[in-house]
Amino acid sequence: MQNSEDIWNRVDAHRTAFEALSDRVWEMPELGFLEHRSAAEHVAMLEQQGFRVTTGIAGIPTAMVGEAGDEGPVIAILGEFDALPGLSQEAGIAEHRPRAGEAAGHACGHNLLGSAAMLAATAVKDWLAANGLKGRVRYYGCPAEENGAGKLFMVRAGAFADVDIALSWHPAPFCAVNNAVSLANVAIDFSFAGRASHAAAAPHLGRSALDAVELMNVGVNYMREHMPSDARIHYATLDAGGVAPNVVQAHAKVRYVIRARDLTELHPLVARVRKIADGAALMTETQVTARPVSGMSNLLGNTPLEQAMHDNLARLGPPEWDAADRAFAREIQATLRDDDIVSAHRRFGLPVNRDEPLCTTIVPLDYQANGGIGSTDVGDVSWVVPTAQIRGATYAIGTPGHSWQLTAQGQSPLAKKGMVHAAKVMAATAVDALRNPALIAQARADHAARTDGNPYVCPLPDDVPPALDMALGR
Ligand SMILES: [Zn+2]
Repeated sequence: MQNSEDIWNRVDAHRTAFEALSDRVWEMPELGFLEHRSAAEHVAMLEQQGFRVTTGIAGIPTAMVGEAGDEGPVIAILGEFDALPGLSQEAGIAEHRPRAGEAAGHACGHNLLGSAAMLAATAVKDWLAANGLKGRVRYYGCPAEENGAGKLFMVRAGAFADVDIALSWHPAPFCAVNNAVSLANVAIDFSFAGRASHAAAAPHLGRSALDAVELMNVGVNYMREHMPSDARIHYATLDAGGVAPNVVQAHAKVRYVIRARDLTELHPLVARVRKIADGAALMTETQVTARPVSGMSNLLGNTPLEQAMHDNLARLGPPEWDAADRAFAREIQATLRDDDIVSAHRRFGLPVNRDEPLCTTIVPLDYQANGGIGSTDVGDVSWVVPTAQIRGATYAIGTPGHSWQLTAQGQSPLAKKGMVHAAKVMAATAVDALRNPALIAQARADHAARTDGNPYVCPLPDDVPPALDMALGR
């Protein structure tokens, strides 16, 4: 039943331009907060489509909002455009081959994510104008989802203060309403300062910052046994103190990401990790400083909006794949392990089907997800605005997130079909809300009930600025 509605025709009318935008962003993969060229592409497209554009939201050069329409309710559609380090890959092939001279890659499909969100906003803008209705639609261009939590800073700066509902999506193997479960997290850089000395001639005079990092890691690894079961802690060494083993390392730095079900569970874990850092400094007679660089809240669901998105998914049906789409998806699947394919189905509560390489169903609204849980900075938006998201089928079932296989599919016809499909669901849901104020009222009431006695508390203190250099490991 594809394209039986006016709003879907309006999405189709712009699809070529937005597929090209997605392709251009794929070609220039940029890391979080450094997405200057990608953001410029998004700003140019917003201007070309006649949106009123504001850039530099929350002091972030690559954050933007484009607005259209007058008065009435405000519908936000959230987009992203950051890439990942080390996941460079040629497009359209099913073998691992990084692009020459390119380290980063769109291995989470954010080239599609941002383009579909703006495509939906554009169709809604046209629909508002054609129907002469009061109402505003905004595209939020949100930087650094992968590492820097751009949306948290946009929320903290009040960019969502007058928004009625927010909609978004994420590339996925299946079409489904997003299960609104994600982990809250905080990222903290721990820098240790010691004293250099000749490691053979005067070791007693040195105090090793690298020892402190190692002892901290050991301490945290012992802590893991004594955490809530959904909590996660990861670390990456940003500075090991240099390349000379015969110099006692005077400086070293480690980045920690601490995750938990919600902020109430997260904060005590963060305090324990900080104690371990202090302990490592005490043991090694070094000094430690802790710099929070990012944080994200867990997602809050919204039943009326999720129902509305599901109804639109059900009316639209899954994307219409052709033989070439299936053939490419099968080639990609041949590079995966059977485990990948099995767990992709389980994650969406589906029976394992090895015959279909692409999504041919709409996952039921009440599916029981079975698998690991990540984090997203959409979480912070969801605490201040009723928010719902879908997952849109854009890649072969079983493709791991953040893999070369995902980068490889980012410019494929099948990915673009999924992207346009997701735009249609978001646009139709926005139109539902603009046509039917009761939906917005229900979404607000649901949100109020979920936050009653439990208001939003930003996971980062007000004086922590966006870590614009975070992707550089500084
Ligand atoms: Zn992503």
